[in-house]
Amino acid sequence: MVDKRLWREARTVRFLLALTVGLGLGAGLLAVVQAGYLARVVNRVFLEGQDLSGVWLLLLALLGVIIFRAVLAWVSEVMAFRVAARIKYDLRQRLLEHLLALGPVYVRGEHSGELVNLLVEGVEAVETYFARYLPQLALAALVPLAILGFAFPIDLTAGLILFFTAPLIPLFMYLIGGWAQTLTLQQWETLSRMSAHFLDVLQGLTTLKIFGQSKAQARVMAWISDRFRKTSLGVLRVAFLSALVLEFLATISTALVAVTVALRLVYARIPFEEALFLLLLAPEFYLPLRLLGTHFHAGMAGASAAGRIFEILETPLPQKRSCGEVHLAPGAGLHVAFEGVYYTYSDKEHPALEDVSFDLAPGERVALVGPSGAGKSTVASLLLRFIEPQGGRITVNGVPLDRIPAEQWRRYVALVPQHPYLFYGSIAENIRLGRPEASLDEVMAAAKRAGAHSFIQGLPRGYDTPVGEGGIRLSGGQAQLLAIARAFLKNAPLLVLDEATAALDPATEELIHQALESLMAGRTVLVIAHRLATVYRAHRILVLHGGRVVERGQHEELLKRQGVYHRLVSAYGGVQ
Ligand code: ADP
Repeated sequence: MVDKRLWREARTVRFLLALTVGLGLGAGLLAVVQAGYLARVVNRVFLEGQDLSGVWLLLLALLGVIIFRAVLAWVSEVMAFRVAARIKYDLRQRLLEHLLALGPVYVRGEHSGELVNLLVEGVEAVETYFARYLPQLALAALVPLAILGFAFPIDLTAGLILFFTAPLIPLFMYLIGGWAQTLTLQQWETLSRMSAHFLDVLQGLTTLKIFGQSKAQARVMAWISDRFRKTSLGVLRVAFLSALVLEFLATISTALVAVTVALRLVYARIPFEEALFLLLLAPEFYLPLRLLGTHFHAGMAGASAAGRIFEILETPLPQKRSCGEVHLAPGAGLHVAFEGVYYTYSDKEHPALEDVSFDLAPGERVALVGPSGAGKSTVASLLLRFIEPQGGRITVNGVPLDRIPAEQWRRYVALVPQHPYLFYGSIAENIRLGRPEASLDEVMAAAKRAGAHSFIQGLPRGYDTPVGEGGIRLSGGQAQLLAIARAFLKNAPLLVLDEATAALDPATEELIHQALESLMAGRTVLVIAHRLATVYRAHRILVLHGGRVVERGQHEELLKRQGVYHRLVSAYGGVQ
């Protein structure tokens, strides 16, 4: 199955692959010519007693063949790696594009450590498949056939021995192959699990330390590494065993040719030159088959990684049901309506949202509240179009959302997430994500409105200070302010705000609060609220519970109902 898909990949570079195989075949044929010249030189010098003047032309030709063979081998090696590089580049590109198209909901569901491992190590393992295994597969069939073409006319017996012993090597490889494949697959899975776990531990180190679990985690890591070591050794054991068997078969078969040829030489049934030629050809005959055996395991590792790569590439993208695209009139206020929306995550049985209906009028501020797992983030993901409703529909000014191109829609929505991500780059570049074509003045104006300007000016290089991985570390509050500045710069009419839960110092809290208030003014806002102050100020509150809107209204009337909202607010200590 995987092999079939890998072959399909190979078709995209078939010209380069054919060239690689052609060069390899050329090098194989030159080996025959080389053996022929060598046999002739030895024959002339030792049996016919000629001196250097009789063979120097032959020796020169021999040297020429050797050099030519080396050049062919070099070029075919370069070609093979070019093939692999092209495929690797292409696979990485497609994987990244597909992951981006699948969106944050899919990536969050997966282990990001595993994905990183796949993008780096996995794609790298595919290289051996294309650079080594695949060309060798063709050469293992072609070169021995070509050599047989020389051997048969010279000597039928030797030809027959070669002909019947050759299939033994692929046969044994096939027998060992199934076993090896299970093992390499296991090895690949353990490696992926290890990377995923390692990233988890690194990201959650603070939590682990606080709860005194870092030692226990170290033990788990040790256990996983040990498993990886064991599976790797298992793979190596099979690889060595199969190499031994293949070498053994090749040696025995060569010896068989040597003995039969030597016996006939003793009884003068075959001329010396031909006997020596056959003897020199025998190892060249088995060489491509033996090499196939050695590359087989590396190829297997590539195929195992490829299995997972294709699995991701074949994950269907969120369906687009667009039938005739509609563009929103610029500058119009946005009226968003959820009408009986259903959504179930592919790996879950219960729907995350069931029959959810609500309106967002232009300029309105709606707070989504509910216990964790109620479906608040799912509503936000639907609004941002990371996922599409599976039932019901979302409309904007009466137009179904799926008829508006996603790129265009996203220009109308700004998101201030709970944990804003800062990419490696300067502060200005990070704010500019809101609107990439913005000038520095506009970036600064947005930062001023977000209340971030003063702390940015206090940084060593101001707006040019590098942040993100490898740059300076900003506090959680400062990152929030940058995210708000991004949203100001984007100036979208609809704002999705996922409120931060982490407690900040009162001064920063106040700064963020003011920045958010001025950001929300005049915009339609959907806020996933975690603070009572935000909830009090919302025009309307939607209470989600188990994927359904269970209560809706304003703070006072909801409190009076003594329902889910009342319990939530009591838990926050808002009412006694
Ligand atoms: P909230 O934001 O209110 O905490 P969510 O919208 O994140 O709730 O989750 C609603 C339900 O959907 C939960 O049962 C959660 O386990 C599930 N869920 C959320 N995200 C994913 C995901 N990426 N894959 C699978 N299930 C998910």
